[in-house]
Amino acid sequence: MTDLDIAQKATLHPIREIAGAIGIPEDKLFHYGPYMAKVEGEPPPKRGRLILVTALTPTPAGEGKTTVSIGLTQGLGRLGKKAAVALREPSLGPVFGVKGGATGGGYSQVLPMEEINLHFTGDFHAVTSAVNLLAAMVDNHIHQGNALGIEPRRVEYKRVLDMNDRALRHVVTGLGGPINGVPAESGFEITVASEVMAVMALARTVPELKERLGRIRVGYTFDRKPVYARQLKAHGAMTALLVQALKPNLVQTLEGQPAFVHMGPFANIAHGTNSVRATEMALGYADYVVTEAGFGSDLGAEKFFNVVSRAAGFAPEAVVLVATIRALRYHGGADDYHTPNPEAVRQGLANLAQHAGNIRQHGFDPVIALNHFESDTEEEIELVRAFAREYRLRFAVAEVWAKGGEGGRALAEEVLAALETPGQLQPLYDPDEDLGEKIRRIATEVYGAAGVSYTKKARNALRRIQRDGCDRLPVVMAKTPASLSDDPKLRGRPGDFTVTVTDLKARCGAGFVVVYMGDVMTMPGLPKTPAAERVDVTEDGRIVGLF
Ligand code: ADP
Ligand code: MG
Repeated sequence: MTDLDIAQKATLHPIREIAGAIGIPEDKLFHYGPYMAKVEGEPPPKRGRLILVTALTPTPAGEGKTTVSIGLTQGLGRLGKKAAVALREPSLGPVFGVKGGATGGGYSQVLPMEEINLHFTGDFHAVTSAVNLLAAMVDNHIHQGNALGIEPRRVEYKRVLDMNDRALRHVVTGLGGPINGVPAESGFEITVASEVMAVMALARTVPELKERLGRIRVGYTFDRKPVYARQLKAHGAMTALLVQALKPNLVQTLEGQPAFVHMGPFANIAHGTNSVRATEMALGYADYVVTEAGFGSDLGAEKFFNVVSRAAGFAPEAVVLVATIRALRYHGGADDYHTPNPEAVRQGLANLAQHAGNIRQHGFDPVIALNHFESDTEEEIELVRAFAREYRLRFAVAEVWAKGGEGGRALAEEVLAALETPGQLQPLYDPDEDLGEKIRRIATEVYGAAGVSYTKKARNALRRIQRDGCDRLPVVMAKTPASLSDDPKLRGRPGDFTVTVTDLKARCGAGFVVVYMGDVMTMPGLPKTPAAERVDVTEDGRIVGLF
């Protein structure tokens, strides 16, 4: 059975019942049909305990963080706990590209699968519109006389679309003579890569949202002064487009637990977690909240610890580190990582060790969750179990994809045991530290690099950020997710490498500095055979081919 078959066979509960079970009053629900709602109002005071799910360095297929997050929530449910999961909203880019949807898999999914993966409650439409409104207002300002003196060649703000469309990466706008605007080179990004998406995921209140939107820098004047959205008086209308979208969406797991699915910033050029508001809402109503940070612990978890927790005022109390045998084979050098290969697994454990170390240095002993795949052998699993013993880490095989909550019980028990002596977040750096020093600490202490070098462009960008006074912000590293280093080809635990900073961009609205280590695609392309080719609608109106 495919994920979609399982999802379509499930019996959904009315969302009002799901909400009622954790005490969300009916008058706080804004319904989108019977199974989806936004939760309005202020989150109640925090009662829940937060569990962060991260992973080792992933293969391109993903290692199942979302699936394990949902399965763990279902496992906690089987143990009689009031648990909720908080996840990002899927983007149409991966849905129609390589990876597919982002609603989990097998018997650990959030529902309704088709709606969540496609239009859902329209949040991404709202974000797209808000981004593009500001772009239109910038161009219009220049066209209407340019009172602020914006240099058209230094407008860095881009339009967005929630689609993988490489042909839009570089475009020229304003062609066609004076009545059609001022020609300028520009480009599109995918909606989830926008600063507005990051802002939506970090803002806790409407006034904070508006304030952050006003701080978005769109470019520079002819005399090199930064220009912000508030100077164009765009932030009020952008907020109007976004108020409804700021309310967290409530859906359900396959086993009828609350799932808050809200916002979806990238985990490389942004911080890679669902909205702070959704997690806060979940923590206000549920006793246990499971949330996921994108990519490996070097990207998503590092940012959760040093950027998100700081902005949000909540921190995890336990951390789950997802490992898969296939990723361990891959990191151990096996090109065919679908075939049993204990020797490769043994070698690949060096990667897992580095991730466990990262999490430990932030104050947590991670629980290792081995996301079980059909091709895993007992011998390979035993190697990971022995690794956990050696590092004195809790360990569970998670069979959540095949068995749902029942397969998540063992993991849930380990997590509950871990919560008896909760971790205490120790951030790696103080945002007031020197920008170069913050970068050095992440590179050496989290990636295991020997040092950091800068291109000329990066050195200039660093100086400009210091001059603009934006350097006392937390940093968001934009690095390949495929390696602990900045070279996607280096698997396992690379030794003796340096990383190269190629550019830096202050995101004043989001409140972080993006540090680029190589090119990061902010507008992906479709692969040779896009997943879209398999998606269809049957004669009786049923969607097929989503995964
Ligand atoms: P991540 O959140 O780490 O990117 P996902 O949970 O989205 O990963 O899983 C990626 C893909 O792998 C999904 O299509 C999911 O159905 C599939 N998957 C996850 N775990 C398993 C498993 N144990 N067995 C088979 N397929 C799995
Ligand atoms: Mg995921």
